[in-house]
Amino acid sequence: MSPTPTSAPFAIRARVVSPLAAGGTLDLPDGLVTVDASGRIGSVAGVADVPPGVPADAVDLRPWVVLPGMVDLHAHLPQVPNAGLGYALPLLEWLDRLTFPTERSWVDPAVAERLAPAIFRAFAAAGTTTVLAYGVVYEAAMEAAFRAAETHGIRAILGKVMMDRLTYDPTIDPASILDRTLRESRDLAERWHGADAGRLGYAVTPRFAVSCTEDLLRKSAELARDLGCWWQTHVSEDPGEIAEVRRLFPDARDYVDVYERAGGLGPRSILAHAIHLSPMEEARLAATGTRIAHCPTSNLFIGAGVMPLTSRLTAGIGVGLGSDVSGGAELSLFGVMRAGAYAQQARRVLVDRDTGVAADSTDAAPPLGPLEWLRLGTLDGARVLGLDDVIGSIEVGKEADLIAVDPGLTAPLGPELDREGLLDDPSDLVGRLIFRSHPSMVRAAWVRGRRLEGPA
Ligand SMILES: [Zn+2]
Repeated sequence: MSPTPTSAPFAIRARVVSPLAAGGTLDLPDGLVTVDASGRIGSVAGVADVPPGVPADAVDLRPWVVLPGMVDLHAHLPQVPNAGLGYALPLLEWLDRLTFPTERSWVDPAVAERLAPAIFRAFAAAGTTTVLAYGVVYEAAMEAAFRAAETHGIRAILGKVMMDRLTYDPTIDPASILDRTLRESRDLAERWHGADAGRLGYAVTPRFAVSCTEDLLRKSAELARDLGCWWQTHVSEDPGEIAEVRRLFPDARDYVDVYERAGGLGPRSILAHAIHLSPMEEARLAATGTRIAHCPTSNLFIGAGVMPLTSRLTAGIGVGLGSDVSGGAELSLFGVMRAGAYAQQARRVLVDRDTGVAADSTDAAPPLGPLEWLRLGTLDGARVLGLDDVIGSIEVGKEADLIAVDPGLTAPLGPELDREGLLDDPSDLVGRLIFRSHPSMVRAAWVRGRRLEGPA
């Protein structure tokens, strides 16, 4: 095999599988994708139908498969080293014992400078080309994280965590914390939002209602609107957390209402989890166009619950996937798809087959198939961010955020013993990648046609 291309322009030949913006899935068993000098996809076609003028010197990546890069809508950069620790701890205890001490260590920006480049390489190795992530409360560490993303090449939307109560930083003066966190968030956003022609972005990031006053929530939402940034936080993850929010915000109708009163809902807002919503809360998210980052590995690891995915989708809410590392133990969105698929099947088998009463009335619907999970992890994630005209699928004119995956590593007996034609159906191929993911199966990742360090 010739060397995998490192920068645009290039042409690659491989099986090409991608969701399509108009619906359905593109599957080219022997396809050719060209990427122009600006990093955009110039053509996508079967090798037999290559348009005139396309270069014949494509790099042949077969038997690898080219897919759109994964879009991870929820992760915590400083928590990546903790992945796999803290199984089944209640959320608030998990924060105190594991998460806050780790985040506190980033008070020294040298820690961020040392870890952030490796963290972005790890995302790329998992096949993630776009990540929406929380950082820490420290501005200098966030500056280092943005610089690392700028150098690495990943598409990253990051935010400094905002907390004006129960913060893990004992050095912050409570009297000035609100003004300071707003000022530092604004400074970071002004430096980084839209940097490198939109590859980097800023999300104003109040951690969640438990660690934010009403004042901070309202001013953070104003700041995001002011600067045209995203706004991200957590909602309705764990029963203990929900009870605490009810105690802290006695005037609010429910958890979603805490954010709605603060002006935090809308199409630029991404809420993680949204597991235990009432029908009224679900309806408010749908009516305001607010988006959800669905994080099933995390929800099952911590034991927070199983989100009724079909209900959220039927309500018309924009949903994509999040690893929520280290609430979730793995960075791979293929693993997130697997956990999500199993969790939704668990909801379905809870349907009482004698009475017909479902765990939720939507749970009797047919489960999502592998190609629908792939869409959630790519094009739907891009749509949640409002970036679906730029990334999320392999279509002409989009920026070339691609991954090359070796499906041979997922074959139970090795690919040479797979029956001829076994994976001809793209649903079977993608099912293999989801249900038999191999940690080294992502062999290359590109953002805007530039190859990322990370994949083996
Ligand atoms: Zn989270």
